[in-house]
Formats: sequence, structure tokens, C-alpha cells
Amino acid sequence: MASDPLKTGGGLLDDLYREIILDHYRRPRNHDPLNTPTCSADGANPLCGDTVHLEVGLDGDTIDEIAFAGMGCSISQASTSMMTEYVKGRTVEEARKGAQAFQQMMTSGETQSIEGFDDIDALQGVAKFPARVKCASLGWKTLEQALEGGGVITTEEGHESND
Ligand code: ZN
Repeated sequence: MASDPLKTGGGLLDDLYREIILDHYRRPRNHDPLNTPTCSADGANPLCGDTVHLEVGLDGDTIDEIAFAGMGCSISQASTSMMTEYVKGRTVEEARKGAQAFQQMMTSGETQSIEGFDDIDALQGVAKFPARVKCASLGWKTLEQALEGGGVITTEEGHESND
């Protein structure tokens, strides 16, 4: 692992953003399992050892409840925590759009703004670290999988030659 964007002293991520990420990591939101999830999915990022288990409770077309559990680096867990806060109470369609916008930001490095998702700014800088993009995207990919009906995903699709 060449670089850790959260390391202090390097000036890699703004202090404020680092604090936001670490706050979500230490106090993850929506972390209590649901009683009756409508669908669930598991995601893994083998490159870093991150895992996410996600449960979604739908009310019609709206994400009424959402919960996650997971292990791994602070970026993967904080990003998933932020994602759950954002999508809770939104429609499936809005959640899918958010997932697409977020992943586009991560892969292109272009600034995206997602209405109502202010914490996205904190993760913007992660796009500069290719090895960590999959960490930040894991929760969103797992969400997409859950909304497709569930299952297991891994961030290692195909064999992209990064690094
Ligand atoms: Zn990670």
C-alpha cells in the first residue's frame, strides 16, 4: 500500500475532510441490523481486505431503512456509513443515481455534486489514490447489488491492470 490518504503530515487530504472520514469510521451510522430487510448484499474488496454487509428495507420504492456491518479500512467503512445516511429515505432511483455519480467521481476524478450529500466533498480527494478508489466505492457497489435483488459482489471484476 503505497500511500495512505489519511496519514497526517502528508497534506494528502484536507484536515477537515480527514476528520469527517474518521468520525464516520469511529461512529458508523446505521450500524444496527434490520429486523426484516427486504434485500441484502455482501461486498468485498480483496485488494484491501474490506468487507461490507448491507441490508435494505424498502417501503414501496423508497429506502425506508438501511443498515450495514463491515470490516476494513477507514475509507471503506466511512464511505459506506455516509452512503447509508444519504440514501435513507430516498427512492431506489435516487439511490442508483447517487451510486453512479459517486463512482463516476471516483474513476474520473471530476468533481460531482449530489444534492443532499454534502459529505461527498470529504471523499473527493480519495480519487487521487487509485488503490483506495475501490475502498471508497465498495459500499455503493454493494448497495447497487442489494437493489438488484441481493447477492455477493467483489471489486475485482475482470483484471484491470492497476498498479
Ligand atoms: Zn480499503
